[in-house]
Amino acid sequence: MKSYFRAEIDKMDGYVPGEQPQMENLCKLNTNESAFPPSSGVKRALVEFDWERLRRYPDPMADTLRDRIAREFGVKRENVIAGNGSDDILTMVFRCFTSPELSLACLYPTYSLYPELAKMQGARVIPIPLEPGDFAMPDDLLEQAKGANLLIVARPNAPTGNSFPKAKMREICEKFDGVVFIDEAYADFADDDCMEFAKEFDNVIVSRTFSKSYSLAGLRLGFAVGHPALIAGMFKVKDSYNLDRLTQALGFAAFDDRAYLKACCEKVKENRKRFTEQLKALGFQVVPSQANFVFAAPPDRDGERCFRELRNRAIIVRYFKGPVTGSYVRITIGSPEEMDRVLKAFREIYVSL
Ligand code: PMP
Repeated sequence: MKSYFRAEIDKMDGYVPGEQPQMENLCKLNTNESAFPPSSGVKRALVEFDWERLRRYPDPMADTLRDRIAREFGVKRENVIAGNGSDDILTMVFRCFTSPELSLACLYPTYSLYPELAKMQGARVIPIPLEPGDFAMPDDLLEQAKGANLLIVARPNAPTGNSFPKAKMREICEKFDGVVFIDEAYADFADDDCMEFAKEFDNVIVSRTFSKSYSLAGLRLGFAVGHPALIAGMFKVKDSYNLDRLTQALGFAAFDDRAYLKACCEKVKENRKRFTEQLKALGFQVVPSQANFVFAAPPDRDGERCFRELRNRAIIVRYFKGPVTGSYVRITIGSPEEMDRVLKAFREIYVSL
């Protein structure tokens, strides 16, 4: 059949999201969701939500939610934009800052949606390989990123889970001649973050999501903070009513419960520490994680086999094939019981090695 598509779309594979299987006794550790329920404030807001108001369009600017987020980070409403998940924020960013003339620079491996969004724009991608072994940022990153209009760094990175030195991030923000987008989807689980750079530099945007630390992957909410001029440009390209009324109300309630957010993240960090130690004791190589998942290579360094063996036991993790990532699996930090189930499976699988 004749193709009616733009050449860019024809050439794309398309991003493949982590599977959401329906399986009995499933241990789902493949998409970095939270092991905890959302804040009880979310339940209250849901119960109190006036269904009759759904007749009306939502606030296209999400002002009440943006004001609450702005207050938390000591910025103004004009510095904040909210999206239908941080994927929606990324879509806006790519529409604004990439084109056949304006390229993207990003690390490899990283969140594989970035290159797909670039391809949709017909933009060139400059991949900057992380250091083999420890997935550190290369010293000459700025040199390699030269000429790009947009540089994206996920910090902590996915799927590797490690972070990058803050001093290096500052240097990048200062020196990169283009927009620096710092994807902080996992920053709530880390020891530090780069939100201050969004206030300090007029070329920096920092994004967060409600899908992980706020336990609201099913709601779809994310936001970004940046200079008012950058945020205003993003408003021009967003879908008109990108956040429905329910999401704005429930998102507000979740964000407002700072104590619960902190408590959940502390528990994830504790479980991550314990799980990492136990994996190492079983002969796994584990990348030091600052996120709510670990990237770990099994004793035989065969990530695919590990993925398959776990799947046979109804434990779903993420495997990324390829020469750099293929020795690893990415495992979400779930409840202590879930992690024990994974460890028990590993004892079965790797006992004879
Ligand atoms: N950034 C990174 C680095 C991610 O891993 C994810 C989750 N797939 C996202 C952004 C998107 O998250 P969401 O759209 O659920 O906010």
